[in-house]
Amino acid sequence: MERARENSLETQPISPLGPVKLAITMDDMLMWREAPVPKNYSPLGIARAMTQALSRHHASDVFAFSNTAPAEDDPELLRVFDHWVGQGHHVANHTHHHASINWVDAETYIGDIERTEEIIKRWSSLAPRRYFRYCNDMWGDTAEKQAAVGDYLARNGYTPVPVSVGFRDSRFLPAYWRTLNRDDREGIAYLRRAFVDTAMHELRLHAANARAVYGRDPAHIWLIHGTPLGGDCLDEILDCFEAAGVQFISLEAAMADPMNALVPPRVSPEFIHQVEKWALVHGVPVDDRAPAILEEIEKLNPAPGESAVEIRARMQASIARHLGARPAPFPLATIQC
Ligand SMILES: [Zn+2]
Repeated sequence: MERARENSLETQPISPLGPVKLAITMDDMLMWREAPVPKNYSPLGIARAMTQALSRHHASDVFAFSNTAPAEDDPELLRVFDHWVGQGHHVANHTHHHASINWVDAETYIGDIERTEEIIKRWSSLAPRRYFRYCNDMWGDTAEKQAAVGDYLARNGYTPVPVSVGFRDSRFLPAYWRTLNRDDREGIAYLRRAFVDTAMHELRLHAANARAVYGRDPAHIWLIHGTPLGGDCLDEILDCFEAAGVQFISLEAAMADPMNALVPPRVSPEFIHQVEKWALVHGVPVDDRAPAILEEIEKLNPAPGESAVEIRARMQASIARHLGARPAPFPLATIQC
């Protein structure tokens, strides 16, 4: 972990134009159905590690957007929200089953939003704004669906919140689980270094993409998920961000930037975030290829039934079973090839 910190600290500021403003957001603090949780880890333990890291970095009012299906199986998980709100942060809607909007019709998607609101209203009603986050940051794979769900959200006082910078952090979950299970100390250290380095690398990449579109640094909305590795590394990631000139701001402040406040006029069935949606709207060439490390980490402690692909298949089958969704691979945008 120390080596990663030194490496990251040695590198240049994120932007040559000055400090980069960034709002931290958390998704899926209850994890997902069929996602493996390593022994000695729990969503509440992960949430505690994360709130500690946030307070060390003076980041308050952080919104957690979580799917709620895991709490249907284990209501104790909802104590995560007690802790989160107790620490000065906020809870918001991210649907119940976590289906991509591509896999269901608008009516089913809206029903899934309403189901979560029933579960989270004790906490979500305390938040200063009623925010919503689409699963996979996918806002509708047809113009009709995008309009139907968008209208529903507007009528019910929700503001949808995009992601401008992610780092595919949930893709590390299977490898970290396998490696912890085998108590492979070297592997654990390697994954922590790789995770922090990937967070830095992806922030640089997407911040550069945004400058290519806007000629300035817009306020960013960064996403990390409530996974075991996220809990173990958030503090170090935020150290590295700060050392590279990142200033943490509230989500409300980030939402004032037109990049985030305006909805890109494009139907986007791909798994792409806000910066790249705008790049495609304006025809600006940018790089949105998945980092190669995601293939590398799958070579760590492989075992039948424990690969990222197999775990993802079980997660999707669960969503199909419970919601009647029809999971399908996401199409790639030109900038992802
Ligand atoms: Zn999510």
